Amino acid sequence: MRVRGSILSTLMMAVIFAAGASAAVHVQHLGSPAKSSAVDFDKAAQEATKMLCEYLKIDTTVPPGNEKLGAEYLASVLKQNGIEAQLFETAPNRSCVYARLKGSGKKKAVVLLNHIDVVPAVAADWKHPPFSGEIFDNEIWGRGALDMKGFGIVELEAMLMLKRQGVKLDRDIIFLGTPDEEVGGDYGARWFTEKHPELLKDAEFLFNEGSHIITGSDGKPKFWGVNFSEKNVLWLKLTANGQAGHASMPIRDSATNRLARALEKLVAVYPMTVRSPQVVPDLKKISDSKPEPLKGYYSQVVEDMKNNDYVAGIENDRMLSSMLVNTASLTVLKAGYKTNVIPGEASAEIDCRLLPGVEKDEFIAHVQKIIADPTIKTSVLEWNVAGASDIQTDLMSSIKKVAAEESPGTPVRPVVVPWFTDSHWFRKLNITCYGFEPFEIKPELLASMHGIDERIPVNVYSSGLRRFYKILADVAVAK
Ligand SMILES: [Zn+2]
Repeated sequence: MRVRGSILSTLMMAVIFAAGASAAVHVQHLGSPAKSSAVDFDKAAQEATKMLCEYLKIDTTVPPGNEKLGAEYLASVLKQNGIEAQLFETAPNRSCVYARLKGSGKKKAVVLLNHIDVVPAVAADWKHPPFSGEIFDNEIWGRGALDMKGFGIVELEAMLMLKRQGVKLDRDIIFLGTPDEEVGGDYGARWFTEKHPELLKDAEFLFNEGSHIITGSDGKPKFWGVNFSEKNVLWLKLTANGQAGHASMPIRDSATNRLARALEKLVAVYPMTVRSPQVVPDLKKISDSKPEPLKGYYSQVVEDMKNNDYVAGIENDRMLSSMLVNTASLTVLKAGYKTNVIPGEASAEIDCRLLPGVEKDEFIAHVQKIIADPTIKTSVLEWNVAGASDIQTDLMSSIKKVAAEESPGTPVRPVVVPWFTDSHWFRKLNITCYGFEPFEIKPELLASMHGIDERIPVNVYSSGLRRFYKILADVAVAK
């Protein structure tokens, strides 16, 4: 990994904190028309917070989605600020919103991607109503505060800030809000990238949800995690067939018995932990056999794994350890309909998440070897490949530069997140996609994502906006 340039060498964009409590800064552009104005981060954060509260009130739960209402809200804000926005209806009441802030075209465009839909929330389980969009105890509450209306509004606000400053941009900035992410993106990111690739043909970089500033329970940042790739999704179904009969006379090799024996072996191996003996050889195998960026990424991880403190820091963390191992979670079991009848068929569904670089057939062969019963049929229910983006880019350099400024001593690490996002649709268009939301999110807050009481503290939100603005300005503003 390399860092291009240093803070001192980038006098083109001098960021000067004004004295006193106000977080106003001046962005000056040497060599470009002297049309710059002060950035008042406090004011911008207040505006973003207000917009997020309004946006959270719009119920875009999928299914059914109704993301058109959210898209119209975002479009209205863009239009009020003099940015033309287009809506694309992908299905009834479901829309994408697309807008572009023009730059000189000297460099290729950067896309600010966000999804408008949210997962369901059962109001009775929440301390405050999930679509109230209100602030309680300095926290912004609502379904989508973290996933991902919060970051969507940060992207929007940063774009508006640059527009109002009237600074010269080297790149166009594209804002794209999409529906349907939480259920696969067929009516959102997939639709848009397949129907309108021409609207993204000049794009080089894309910001999306994914990782964030990984923070301990003490609130201290551990590292800025930038996800350049994601675990690949492999859903398997194991089916055993056998003789059916009356349960008063047991059948040794019935479908249920054989499936139970197979699953017992499988759950003994998965989920693996980072200290499992197979983990480092698995990582090394990928780094030895795959091209960049996987080669460089995994060889770094193999080095890190030699450090006991590093391993100790992740082994008891479900999220961090899932980033480094292939996993298999047993989720659905089906067999039988009556207690006294031995069924002729039994099946299990397993959600496997493979490290990028691990092939589907290789993993299935591994599973079959573990269960060691050739009569059990293995079928693939789903196979989704996330792809991987280059990690040595100008955008990564901008993130590192801002990290050094905002959080001195905290490393920036490319990471592979255990979950799946819409980035893979855009990687197919050769766009470098990073999942990175510059919020310091504690593990207990992270649990509210897709859970109950989803919320983001106002101060975490404000500093996230400031960091994101700085990153976007560094990569897009003319120098
Ligand atoms: Zn999301």
